[in-house]
Amino acid sequence: MIEFGSASSRKVIKVLEEAGYEAVFVGGSVRDYLLGKDASDIDIATSASPEEVKQVFPNTIDVGIEHGTVLVLMDREPIEVTTYRTESTYTDHRRPDEVKFVKSLNEDLRRRDFTINALALTVTGELIDPFGGRDDLKGQVIRAVGNAHDRFMEDALRMVRAVRFASVLGFEVEANTRQAISVNAETIRHVSVERIKVEMDKLMKGKEPNRGFALIAETGLSRHLPLFPQDIRIISESVPYESALEGWAALMLSGGFSASELARAYKLSNHEKDFLSAVQASFDRRQMECYTTDDYYRFTFNVLCAAEKIWQAFNPSESGITQHEIAMKQSELPIRSKEELRVNGKDLMAWTGQRGGPWLGEWMNRIEKSVLHRKCPNDTEKIKEWFLSEYKRQE
Ligand code: ATP
Ligand code: MG
Repeated sequence: MIEFGSASSRKVIKVLEEAGYEAVFVGGSVRDYLLGKDASDIDIATSASPEEVKQVFPNTIDVGIEHGTVLVLMDREPIEVTTYRTESTYTDHRRPDEVKFVKSLNEDLRRRDFTINALALTVTGELIDPFGGRDDLKGQVIRAVGNAHDRFMEDALRMVRAVRFASVLGFEVEANTRQAISVNAETIRHVSVERIKVEMDKLMKGKEPNRGFALIAETGLSRHLPLFPQDIRIISESVPYESALEGWAALMLSGGFSASELARAYKLSNHEKDFLSAVQASFDRRQMECYTTDDYYRFTFNVLCAAEKIWQAFNPSESGITQHEIAMKQSELPIRSKEELRVNGKDLMAWTGQRGGPWLGEWMNRIEKSVLHRKCPNDTEKIKEWFLSEYKRQE
């Protein structure tokens, strides 16, 4: 027995083996285990058909049965089990038209994208490595399984996956594989932007996103992706990014794109788009002068950090602001939001005897400003005094 996967996932394999089937760990988790990294999700592949898997285990959920995947609930833990399969004909450089279940693990491994992802591990710790994946892990190379050109013709997304693994792992893309990306780059247009976005997010969060960015530009993928700067500025000082969104922000600012353009091109969520707009605004402020109290108040910590990181990368000879300084400046603010004001619209109505209306919002804004700029302390009585004197002056 090995210390790989959870106890429940090992149990799933053993139960399948006892029922007379083969079952192994496969894919990314085996790769990450050999790299000494914490495995993300554990995948199990088996010779049992999906129906057979469902017969062996009392609790299962059909999550992707047409692709051969069944979720087994083992001691309440969900474990993904996928039947050995090949992918037959491909049209349009996208997903296969048909999935065919097979009995041989080698056939299943052969349809996988890269040698480092075509590894399997038995529950007793034996590595099954028909394509030299372990050597490629040692040599730090991303190499297509079989003929790279054919593999990218089958599924063009693999080209972006190659680049994302280069970023995530800090590996080289092997020469033939890289050449095949250059030749087939145009076919990425057939792949849905949703699938590209998933890989781009992982690229952004990788150890060496610049490597990924550079590869996209050098292979010409950049000309066929929904939106990508042709002449990417390598933002070496600003990586790795804390979040994928920081990477998107770097891409936006190096390409001179707007947040809405980028959001439209990659179908970003509203939350992602708002973050990028805020980074753009914060970056513009930083270009003009150093941040003011209003900026520290208006922008979130994450937005300021992202903008500052990218600004520093664009202006390496200028002195930057550290994350610690940003945090300090924000913690020194008398208030962090309007909600923290010790007064509200009802107070203003009571003090003036006036009914509600647009004037309330305007005055709340003025109060917010004067508290933020320490013209008035954030204290109900003090604000009342300040407000009434100002209010009377205006009458
Ligand atoms: P991560 O750690 O980011 O999840 P991963 O290698 O597990 O990386 P997944 O997208 O979860 O990547 O895919 C799981 C496995 O399925 C891969 O390791 C690979 O063997 C195979 N795979 C995934 N996508 C493709 C594809 N487009 N073509 C061929 N094989 C693929
Ligand atoms: Mg995975």
